[in-house]
Amino acid sequence: MDCKKARELSAGDLTGELGPEEKSELSEHLKACEPCRREQELLI
Ligand SMILES: [Zn+2]
Repeated sequence: MDCKKARELSAGDLTGELGPEEKSELSEHLKACEPCRREQELLI
């Protein structure tokens, strides 16, 4: 997953739009990608 996709999914996660598979892909990306992790913390 690239960062652009990860950010889309982060936004979807907040509104409960993600399926289990997307959530796990997103969390894998966030583990590996600090900028996206920070981005998500800001959203929350
Ligand atoms: Zn990223």
